[in-house]
Amino acid sequence: MAAVTPVTEHLLRSRRLPDPDCDSKDDRGRLLIVAGCTALPGAVLLAAHTAMRAGAGKLKLAVCKDIAIPIGIAMPEAMVIGLPQTSAGGIDHSAADVLTSQIEGSDAVLLGPGMVEDDDTERLVAALVRKARDCKLVLDAGAFAALRVEPDLARTAPNAAVITPHAGEMAKLLDVERAEIEANPLSAARTAAEQFGTVTVMKGGQTFVVAPDGQAWCYEAGHVGLATSGSGDTLAGLIVGLLARGADPATAALWSVYVHGEAGRRLARRYGGIGFLAREIPAEVPCILAEVL
Ligand code: AMP
Ligand code: MG
Repeated sequence: MAAVTPVTEHLLRSRRLPDPDCDSKDDRGRLLIVAGCTALPGAVLLAAHTAMRAGAGKLKLAVCKDIAIPIGIAMPEAMVIGLPQTSAGGIDHSAADVLTSQIEGSDAVLLGPGMVEDDDTERLVAALVRKARDCKLVLDAGAFAALRVEPDLARTAPNAAVITPHAGEMAKLLDVERAEIEANPLSAARTAAEQFGTVTVMKGGQTFVVAPDGQAWCYEAGHVGLATSGSGDTLAGLIVGLLARGADPATAALWSVYVHGEAGRRLARRYGGIGFLAREIPAEVPCILAEVL
């Protein structure tokens, strides 16, 4: 089996990000995030803030209608689209039609953080992934339901999609026990990358990144304080922000895993250990990116 390469600054310097000095916000990418529900509006903000701190150019947030105005006030940088809502407080699947032109006008799309896990989300995500043929895609959290039902779904994206499951989500995706994933997360990541045709980020204390061609990387220098509510939403935002800027999926995933881990280390130093908040991660991102670049 192929070797696993450690994710280090040295590795990142051999996989450069697109020029950060391009002068127009359009050049740094048009980003669409479809996420959240009435119970988890914060997931949208965590992902969106981190994507913008990663340097994405223009931001649209598509959320269920009850949270659209508060989200717009909390994130004045975004254009916010309020979508039809289900009785469960999620986005109704009929929103796929409303979002067609938004998807077509986007360079990168994130689906899933904070979304209700139900049939509506599954149908909506499946429809949006099919429409996103010309975008780069990140699927997280609630979006995995669609992959469980239709394992070939993400293969329709010509640019490999990125998926970001933690052990519990990976167990559901592969229909095995969580303990099995925890016993061999690299093997799970390899299986998922092959089965779904995606760059797979298997999150945990050690994070494995596996490309659809079997190339594998490992990052284990983060801080345990990153195991905190909302942390994964910031990672998903970071990846989609770098995709919007033009990075290829594996490069965006590797940089994001490193930068997210380094943000955790810096916050832990500042606060003396665990107890920093996911909302504090985004502001760390620009400095870390600038230092590694
Ligand atoms: P989520 O569970 O979706 O909120 O994602 C949690 C994030 O925290 C992922 O990026 C994990 O890699 C990271 N994480 C979880 N546990 C640890 C740990 N023990 N040490 C470092 N990072 C962790
Ligand atoms: Mg998560």
